[in-house]
Amino acid sequence: TDPARIRNFCIIAHIDHGKSTLADRMLGITGIVADRDMRAQYLDRMDIERERGITIKSQAVRMPWQVDGETFALNMIDTPGHVDFSYEVSRSLAACEGAILLVDAAQGIEAQTLANLYLALENDLEIIPVLNKIDLPAADPEKYAREIAQLIGGDPDDVLRVSGKTGMGVEDLLDRVVQRVPAPVGVADAPARAMIFDSVYDSYRGVVTYVRMVDGKLDPRERIQMMSTKATHEILEIGVSSPEPKPTKGLGVGEVGYLITGVKDVRQSKVGDTVTNSAKPASDALPGYTDPLPMVFSGIYPIDGSDYPVLREALDKLKLSDAALQYEPETSVALGFGFRCGFLGLLHLEIITERLRREFDLDLITTAPSVPYEVTTEDRKTVTVTNPSEYPTGAKIHEVLEPIVSASILAPKDYVGAIMELCQSRRGTMKSMDYLGEDRVELKYTLPLGEIVFDFFDQLKSKTQGYASLDYEPAGEAPGDLVKVDILLQGEAVDAFSAIVHKDKAYAYGTMMAQRLRELIPRQQFEVPIQAAIGARIIARESIRAMRKDVLAKCYGGDITRKRKLLEKQKEGKKRMKMVGRVEVPQEAFIAALSGD
Ligand code: GDP
Ligand code: MG
Repeated sequence: TDPARIRNFCIIAHIDHGKSTLADRMLGITGIVADRDMRAQYLDRMDIERERGITIKSQAVRMPWQVDGETFALNMIDTPGHVDFSYEVSRSLAACEGAILLVDAAQGIEAQTLANLYLALENDLEIIPVLNKIDLPAADPEKYAREIAQLIGGDPDDVLRVSGKTGMGVEDLLDRVVQRVPAPVGVADAPARAMIFDSVYDSYRGVVTYVRMVDGKLDPRERIQMMSTKATHEILEIGVSSPEPKPTKGLGVGEVGYLITGVKDVRQSKVGDTVTNSAKPASDALPGYTDPLPMVFSGIYPIDGSDYPVLREALDKLKLSDAALQYEPETSVALGFGFRCGFLGLLHLEIITERLRREFDLDLITTAPSVPYEVTTEDRKTVTVTNPSEYPTGAKIHEVLEPIVSASILAPKDYVGAIMELCQSRRGTMKSMDYLGEDRVELKYTLPLGEIVFDFFDQLKSKTQGYASLDYEPAGEAPGDLVKVDILLQGEAVDAFSAIVHKDKAYAYGTMMAQRLRELIPRQQFEVPIQAAIGARIIARESIRAMRKDVLAKCYGGDITRKRKLLEKQKEGKKRMKMVGRVEVPQEAFIAALSGD
């Protein structure tokens, strides 16, 4: 295709503002999906995506569209909308020349609208502002058109009004994409350079790599090279999605499509990497490649220890389609054999554990999420601690660095007080407060990541009746007054309960855990002290009193079968018991203490 007739664009929006619905509508209007084949969220392929209504993996689809008798190829690139996947969002944006900025006409601008808009502007994309859901009775397009115009400049009347649901305005929107989004430019006779913006594992075809051609051409059967690793592969199939894969004779400047090389692992075809010809490689890779770094860590353990091999296989399998997932074997006194897993963020963690449960039928227990701390001891050795139980104990601690994020919170102005209070309690520092439009405020904070990985978003939602929205991005590290709190049973630390917390919160954490355990652990033949400690210093204590009577005492002289049943039952229970020193703890107690219920 002549690059002059190509338009590459994406839709950026806050979650639930209707991106998937609009994308579906475009597939219908351009005729590439017949009405009878239409199902909701056609492009969101993973079941979990459809159920949660979120887009995890981006997809590209090519649609024909005629303007003034000329046919254009519109490549729509779907981007994930969640903060955990902002690296993938930014790669998808880099594959486009324009972006539809989609805003719910009954909600207005939200935090992810802004975050995605800034990413789009950084990538020099042409922005097409659009208000969606104008069919809703609560829609107030006039008000929000002003809000958008105030944000990006221009005239409120230039903001298109559409309904992805009814289809109203969508044809005009496609025309506008052709008129406003610049055609791609590239050097046709240069060595090939294509940017990988997505890489999806398919159990039948292996890895399907989605690329945006920048320079040159890629042909079927050609040998290609990945510029970050220099690894070479042969192209077995090359084509475009429309929306089902259609092989083509190659991809040229500005085109968007897929290639299949037979590799089985997405790590061999990484998002952000540049593909070139192996015989005639380009001298420079396209800018922007980085390895996504896990920011949230958690231990994942099978509840039934014999499921450990199944868990390992399941993680191996998920890793094929998720380059950002990390894991390594780990053992815990309380929980047995499991894995320490690294995730991009909390949603990523939830998605993975959900898939493990659902697709592999595993019963799992996950430990409280933790962030990576850089701990430097007095002798100037620095270690990265992703598991509190690895916190250095021998030497004195010189400094602990914790990851910091810069967060943007949008909410109606009435909730400013509640939001400030919450951020304060999470050790946040306010950076700015700005009015967007008449009654909406954007608060910018820096916050320790460790303070927001745990129930921050839920708290924010409940304190603002669901009106606040949040987006954040990593903003380096800062020293924190952090300590490791251990929980001890009869003087022995239970690894799964150790936590790294701020000094001012250590007492609250220790007391809460000690009380929980006192209620959950059954009485033993002897008294069991439960203590919370920072190093050798005890900060909280509880105790489980000794059992008063032998359980069999009441059976003396009584029914022998009842007595046997009781013994059987005790034996049964023993299997699920973990020994911590001399103390027998049912595994359920650990699980309940970790999940907080
Ligand atoms: P996404 O998260 O941005 O992909 O949003 P979805 O496309 O999943 O839509 C979120 C919700 O808004 C769904 O319940 C849709 O049915 C609804 N929705 C999307 N577009 C429209 C629209 O134009 N009008 C109305 N009334 N509802 C819409
Ligand atoms: Mg969606």
